[in-house]
Amino acid sequence: MSNSGLGSHSAVQPADKARTLRILVLQMIHDGPPSHPGHPGGSLSAAEIVATLYFGVLNVRPEEPGWPDRDRFVLGKGHAAPVLYAALAERGFFPRAWLGTLRRPGSMLQGHPDMRKTPGIDISTGSLGQGLSAAVGMALAGQMDGRTYRVFALLSDGELDEGQIWEAAMAAHKYRLGNLTAIVDHNGLQNDGYTADVMPLGDLKAKWAAFGWDVVEVDGHDTRALYAMLQAPHPGTPRVVLARTTKGKGVGFMEGKGEWHAAAISDAQLTEALSELARQEGK
Ligand SMILES: [Mg+2]
Repeated sequence: MSNSGLGSHSAVQPADKARTLRILVLQMIHDGPPSHPGHPGGSLSAAEIVATLYFGVLNVRPEEPGWPDRDRFVLGKGHAAPVLYAALAERGFFPRAWLGTLRRPGSMLQGHPDMRKTPGIDISTGSLGQGLSAAVGMALAGQMDGRTYRVFALLSDGELDEGQIWEAAMAAHKYRLGNLTAIVDHNGLQNDGYTADVMPLGDLKAKWAAFGWDVVEVDGHDTRALYAMLQAPHPGTPRVVLARTTKGKGVGFMEGKGEWHAAAISDAQLTEALSELARQEGK
């Protein structure tokens, strides 16, 4: 079976799926507990990235989540769990009805990905900076075992403040992990404000290149461009895709607004957001 089996639809379908993921994210967070809400902003900014992975790139088997040769996905920015849960449900890893239980006591879908609870989660994440290290380990294991699976890690730009990211980056270069791709959801915002104010990231392209990575930049809301960058082989060298995105993308009153990092969604806000997304259908 080639990749996800989507064939010629692979570069087209993800754009529409991204809109579906956004709808599910908003509904899920609206339905969750308002006292400790989920994270809409960073989930919406990553919708095209996650849609392109799960509906075009990743070679996975929903009916067999632990298949040894599956491509691995690591959500370094674990707080964006809603968009990952939406993709897993849409791919058939678990029933869509589970999405209505986000963050509830006993739910299989907790606030951050839990590999012990949720089918399709390869590693528990949420403590920022650790995901890339886990991805390096998975990629190195695949290389040592002679397996052909690939490993993809989605990081936030705020997460790049963590020193452990750069330790992992050095190790990936040392072991020539051509089976590893990192994606940076570069939306310019993090929990405490603009990344430029909290901790300026400088020239990210030059930084990753200095660590020995193959670096590409892309519009993170362009599924065709993302597909091209994520699918192309890069033997012997880890690749990082710097994806320029907008936090809260797709919902006007959330776009570029730091206060939507983690926030409850009211009935009226959900109605407004869903009607806006309905107008985007087919665009
Ligand atoms: Mg960010």
